[in-house]
Amino acid sequence: MQKLIENLYDKYHKLSNGHLASYIPELAKVNPDYFAITIATTDGKIYTVGDSTTKFSLQSSSKPFTYGYALETYGRDFIRTKVGVEPTGKAFNSIVELEKKTHRPYNPMINSGAITITSLVPGKNEQERFSKILGLFNNLSGSTLNFDQQIYESESKTAHRNKSIAHLLRHFNIIDEKIDESLELYFKQCSIMATSVDLAWIGATIANSGVNPLTKTRAISDEYISDIVSLMFTCGMYDSSGEWAYSVGIPAKSGVSGCIVGVIPGVMGISVYSPLIDMKGHSVRGVQVIKDLSKELGLSIFETRNKL
Ligand code: GLU
Repeated sequence: MQKLIENLYDKYHKLSNGHLASYIPELAKVNPDYFAITIATTDGKIYTVGDSTTKFSLQSSSKPFTYGYALETYGRDFIRTKVGVEPTGKAFNSIVELEKKTHRPYNPMINSGAITITSLVPGKNEQERFSKILGLFNNLSGSTLNFDQQIYESESKTAHRNKSIAHLLRHFNIIDEKIDESLELYFKQCSIMATSVDLAWIGATIANSGVNPLTKTRAISDEYISDIVSLMFTCGMYDSSGEWAYSVGIPAKSGVSGCIVGVIPGVMGISVYSPLIDMKGHSVRGVQVIKDLSKELGLSIFETRNKL
């Protein structure tokens, strides 16, 4: 496994296509050469190569897990009244994509759905609500994580689009009147910093039915793991989710900081970090690496020749 990821690192580290996300100004300052690949297994093994100790903001790779937390807190029936489970085929920050009759966001992986989910995290103030989110990510990763003030402020100051989405959601009574507080909470969630190793453990915890393979702490009830993983599969790669299912076949979620987390249920979590992203917001090297890994190891859920 270690040799395999080292070969992939060598194969792709010169690939320099793509661009840094710049609509969050702080993300455009990141070193575009960073590159890390990590695999964490459900039996507690870790394989990593490259800039494994470099921290990056989780951005949208955080979305599936807060969704799990909301499911656990409110139950499936209530959450389904707030957010649907259908892919949109539209960009992550699409403004118009609310379901026709219900006005629910189509799914929790696009911004409208994720803002709705984060708005549901309970607590008497922003601080208490954020400490719940951070606690979740600490339990998932088995590390002590924190958010980056500069990345958070950089997004908060420039987030006119996400703010307009939140106001539309308020208009349709999908989120409550604490619009600003919930938005700030969402931006903080997106600016939680983690390494490729942390993110691979997060994936491995999901793959391990919600229990971190090293700390043995339960981060999420096993009842909701398939909700999380199925939505990562159908909606996690936004408007290239169909292409991803076809050519990679692994439940995954990307973030515009250049990270991708993949989950092989029962087996392992995969994480790749490389900040240059494509037009759809996915790490260019990350897509290639996970595609190759899937082929090499037969990891696609549609593959009958699994080699593990
Ligand atoms: N914080 C980012 C936003 O809401 C996340 C987008 C992404 O990572 O795809 O625009």
